[in-house]
Amino acid sequence: MRRIGWVLLAGALLSARAASAGSVPIRVAIIDGASGGTYHNWRLTTPVLKKELEETGMFDVTVISAPPSDGDFSSFHPDLSRYQAIVMNYDGPDWPAELRAQFERYVSDGGGLVVVHAADNAFPDWPDYNLMTGIGGWRKRDERAGPYWYWKDGKLASDSSPGPAGAHGARLPFQVTTRDPEHPIMKGLPPVWMHVNDELYGTLRGPGKNMKVLATAHSDPRNKGTGLDEPMLMVVRYGKGRVFHTTLGHDVFALSCVGFITTFQRGTEWVATGRVTQKVPRTFPTANTVSYRVDIAEMDPGFLNGATPIQ
Ligand code: ZN
Repeated sequence: MRRIGWVLLAGALLSARAASAGSVPIRVAIIDGASGGTYHNWRLTTPVLKKELEETGMFDVTVISAPPSDGDFSSFHPDLSRYQAIVMNYDGPDWPAELRAQFERYVSDGGGLVVVHAADNAFPDWPDYNLMTGIGGWRKRDERAGPYWYWKDGKLASDSSPGPAGAHGARLPFQVTTRDPEHPIMKGLPPVWMHVNDELYGTLRGPGKNMKVLATAHSDPRNKGTGLDEPMLMVVRYGKGRVFHTTLGHDVFALSCVGFITTFQRGTEWVATGRVTQKVPRTFPTANTVSYRVDIAEMDPGFLNGATPIQ
């Protein structure tokens, strides 16, 4: 396993050198600083997200650690307009009105936004954030947040039944199915690929406005699932801004999946520029075989200590 990891790492470094030749890097800010619980460890996951963007040679990444929602925002005044994309790795209940307004202006004026996993749990009572994410879960969301959204008979469907939002079963590998193969983020990816052990989010609710689902996963009732094809990767239009929302990525091991890495790198380029120039790596997972980066997985000390990634 270790040997395969080094082979993949060498490939990543080669592609990084190729991409960095003579182009101006895309300026990206990763916003972190809060989570719903210790199970979402942004101190571990932010360096992984940063590395995955930087190794392409295309992105210049700044980490902005915001105070937690009940913290002191009096000296927190980031200049979001400096960035072409913001990656949200932050999950808190609320932000001050001034910061919310600045964030809304940033995206509606054409700023790119990438929403990773539990960042769609954040801000249940901030309507415009929910317009940006399209769908979200937990934090007492219910039918007031919007309908449930899922994939049925070849298209996006919704269900306005009352009920809570957000659920997942045990962390097992699962297949991700492409639903929009012509979208620049998805172009060249296999129609079906196996994601490593991760939380398969289901019963997410939200306005779903200007939202396009790029990929889904079948939520298996034998693993507390809905029996539906749940949205995994989405794009949303908010004003002039582009949003890429991935529900994948619970922990470092989930982030080490080559499928996650590739869609995250391509999604970040797309929200910033409207184009994708990155190639799909040859190590991309197949329909029945996972593919993950050992050098990334090892960024979690639990992995190094031999803790099983399977739960
Ligand atoms: Zn999670």
